[in-house]
Amino acid sequence: MSISQPQAQPHHYQPQTLALNAGLQLNPNTQAISPNVSMSVNHQLTPGDGGFSANGCGDLTQLPFSYAGWTNPTVRQLEQRVAALEHCDDGYATASGMAAISAVFFSLLKSGDHLIIADVCYAATNELALQMLPSFGIEVTSVNLSNVADVAAAIKPNTRLVFAETPCNPLLRLTDLQALADLLKPQHILLAVDSTFATPVITRPADFGVDLVIHSLTKFINGHGDALGGCVVGEKNLIESIRSRAGVYLGAVISPHNAWLIMRGIETLYPRMNMMCQSAHQIASWLENHPRVSQVNYSGLSSHPQYDLAQKQMEQPGSVIVFQVDDMDLLEQRFSTEAKIFYYAFSIGHQRSLAVLIRTDELMSATYRLSPEQQADYLRYAGQGVIRLSIGLEAASDLIQELTEMLR
Ligand SMILES: *Cc1c(COP(=O)(O)O)cnc(C)c1O
Repeated sequence: MSISQPQAQPHHYQPQTLALNAGLQLNPNTQAISPNVSMSVNHQLTPGDGGFSANGCGDLTQLPFSYAGWTNPTVRQLEQRVAALEHCDDGYATASGMAAISAVFFSLLKSGDHLIIADVCYAATNELALQMLPSFGIEVTSVNLSNVADVAAAIKPNTRLVFAETPCNPLLRLTDLQALADLLKPQHILLAVDSTFATPVITRPADFGVDLVIHSLTKFINGHGDALGGCVVGEKNLIESIRSRAGVYLGAVISPHNAWLIMRGIETLYPRMNMMCQSAHQIASWLENHPRVSQVNYSGLSSHPQYDLAQKQMEQPGSVIVFQVDDMDLLEQRFSTEAKIFYYAFSIGHQRSLAVLIRTDELMSATYRLSPEQQADYLRYAGQGVIRLSIGLEAASDLIQELTEMLR
C-alpha cells in the first residue's frame, strides 16, 4: 500500500497554511483528512528493495517504507512539515531535542575535527560538547558567537562545525546568523543553529545561510507540554547522512505517536506564537517599569543590548522573558508555593505559563567553562541569576495580576 503525494507544495503557500498542510498525506484507503498514526515497525518488502545495511539502501526515506528505525509514514509527514516551514529541503525527526543535537555532533564530527560552540547555550548541549566530545578525540572551543571576530579568531584548519543557539538560553543573547554564515561559508565550515527559542514563526535561519536548523519540538512546536521530540532540517544530502548514522546506528528515532501529537501541535503554532509574543511583550514592558525589578532581558524591548539585531533577524520578540530582582530566593519561594497560573517548572513554549529561577553560580560550576571576559558578559545579562518566564496562552491581564502578587 502506498500513500498519496503531499497535498501542499512549500513555495505556493504562506507559512500559516503550510503549518496545516505541508507534508500531509492522506491515506488512499480512507481519505481521512487527519494523518493516521502508523505504528507498524515493519512494512512488507518487495524483492530488490534493498539489503540489510543502512548504507546499502540509498535514500532511506523513499517509498516503500521498510523498517521504522529508518523512517515511518507518520514521522515522515512531520519531517516534511518542519522542513517546509524552515525553507529547507528535508528534515530528520528525533526522540528529543537533545537527540537531534547529538545526532548532528556524532554524525558529522570525527576524531581530529574541531567544533566551535556557543559559550552560553542550553545546558545539556554545552555539557555534551565540553564534557563528552573531547573523549572521542573531538576538539571543542567555546566562543561568544555574538562577537564574529572571536569566531574568526577561533577557526582552525580542522574546524568542521560551528554550533549556535539564538536567542540563547538563559540569557536571550542573540547571534547574528547572516554575519556568521558569511564568515563560515567561504571556508566550507558547517553552521548549525538551535532555533528552539525562535521557531520558524520568528526566524528562518536557512534564509540567512545556516546549514542545519535544530529544534526541540518538545517546546513551542508541539506547544502542549505532552510530547518529547526533536528535529534537524537542512539540505537533503546532509540530512540523509545524519539519518543513516544517528537514526539507524544510534537509534535516535521518534515514536510515531509523539510525531503525530507534535504535528497536531504545529497546526496551531502560528496563532499560538502570535498571542504568546504579544502577551510577552506587554508583560516585559510592565516588568521593566516595576520598582522591584532591577533588569529585564527581552528582545522586544529597546533596552535589549542587541535590539537592532533583533529587529533585523526576528519577526516577533519571542515569548521568553528573563528578569532580575534583588531577592531571588523570596521570589522563587512565592512562585513555587503561591502561584496559581504560573507553574514553577523547567521548560518553555507550553500553553501554560512557566517560571523558574536560574542561578548563575550553579551554571558556572556545573555547565559553562567561561573565560573572565565571557563571564563578565554573562553577568552583564544575568547577574547572580534570573527568573525565566515562558509566557503561555492565558490572558495577559491575569498573568500581570499574578506577577503583581509575586512581586508585592
Ligand atoms: C529544551 C531544549 C533543548 C533540549 O530539548 P529536549 O527535547 O528536552 O531534549 C535543546 N535546546 C534548547 C534551546 C532547548 O530549550
